[in-house]
Amino acid sequence: MLHTLQSETLGPHGDAMSAAVTACVHCGFCLPVCPTYRELGQEMDSPRGRIVLMKNVLEGRLDPDAARPHIERCLGCLACEPACPSGVAYRDLISPFRANAGSDGRGRPSRLDRLRRRLVAATLPYPKRFGMAIRLAKAAAPLASLLPKGLGSFFTLLPKGLPRPEAPPVSERPSGRKPRARVALLSGCAQQVLAPEINRAAVEVLLANGVEVVVPPGQGCCGALSWHTGDLPAARDFARGNLDAFLPELDSLDALVTTAAGCGSGLREYPLILAGTDREAEAKRFAEKTLDISVFLHRLGLDPPPPPLPEPAVAAYHDACHLANAQGVTAEPRALLRAIPNLTLRELPGAAFCCGSAGTYNLDQPEIAGSLGRETVARILLSDPEILVSGNIGCLTQIRHHLAESKYPNRAPRVLHTVELLALAYRNAPSGV
Ligand code: SF4
Ligand code: SF4
Repeated sequence: MLHTLQSETLGPHGDAMSAAVTACVHCGFCLPVCPTYRELGQEMDSPRGRIVLMKNVLEGRLDPDAARPHIERCLGCLACEPACPSGVAYRDLISPFRANAGSDGRGRPSRLDRLRRRLVAATLPYPKRFGMAIRLAKAAAPLASLLPKGLGSFFTLLPKGLPRPEAPPVSERPSGRKPRARVALLSGCAQQVLAPEINRAAVEVLLANGVEVVVPPGQGCCGALSWHTGDLPAARDFARGNLDAFLPELDSLDALVTTAAGCGSGLREYPLILAGTDREAEAKRFAEKTLDISVFLHRLGLDPPPPPLPEPAVAAYHDACHLANAQGVTAEPRALLRAIPNLTLRELPGAAFCCGSAGTYNLDQPEIAGSLGRETVARILLSDPEILVSGNIGCLTQIRHHLAESKYPNRAPRVLHTVELLALAYRNAPSGV
């Protein structure tokens, strides 16, 4: 229990935070799986250490500024959750804590960090602004080294080039067959700019499988970025906007599907984000309908089965933390990939280990993110697949970046989202699906 600061004084998240703190028995089973503990070797940068720090801050026994660096270094990868025998819901503690710690002005990030975050928050969730920011950053790249380190990383880590802009996907019905199911698609924000081909592939695969796709207008960023960096008001605004956009369709849907693990996990956290508001019940209904596209397709069953790839290929699958740890999804994407004839799926050593992308972590903590990215790429190169598959735009971008920066860029596999590889197979169908 939280003693000095009782759970009710923490507002609507108090009970969940208190339950997470109380469940921890300090056994330490989570330590070996925590990327920051493995990187830094310090108890305070482990899940157990952070839980103790947060408890002491919340009980008024520790200055929030003393805990802040360790809390900031948490990736939010949630590798600690499946490793915990006591079922500590770490996710119920870390994001509410970040939102709460900023509320009284103490324990807040430095002015420079706040400026960088404001810059990110004002651009990344809005596709037009984000696209423009990347183009500006490209032009300003020579000046990046003149900026303070924390701000320069915003420019240097943005992708060097962008695919041709595409209009967001639109609602479509399968032709020549009665729909087997009806889903709504979250278009996402940054992914629309960085890889519009993912949503295009998702719509193709859904239509090929007889699924009607609805893309509700007025939808926006899922809000996960704001939530995980402690900006509760912004996270709530995004969540309310998406409830307004999707709820009119919800009862007619079999699922609300996402193609980005981070967004799917964010949508499923709407009940926590909107806890204590008049929209909590709607948020629960919304979250219950939300599925990663791999889960939806696997449950539905591929029909028709994907045609063979033109040439045999070997692929390896990298687990996105926000699919594997946050949503418990590991078997479904692998099963879909194994269903593609001519494709051999090779297990990647350490496939569940965080690649260091974690939302804006590679902007906030570039050293740790870089080290995790290099480790991930070293494992991929050792495994030597022709195609590397993952289910999250952040992981795909991070892995591509570090493959290009590695000593062996010419051995880099092609990097694809699960639905892109499925779409490649379906495009090879004799009927020309
Ligand atoms: S494994 Fe669970 S109970 Fe054990 S220290 Fe970690 S969070 Fe606490
Ligand atoms: S979320 Fe990831 S980085 Fe944070 S404490 Fe858990 S395992 Fe460590």
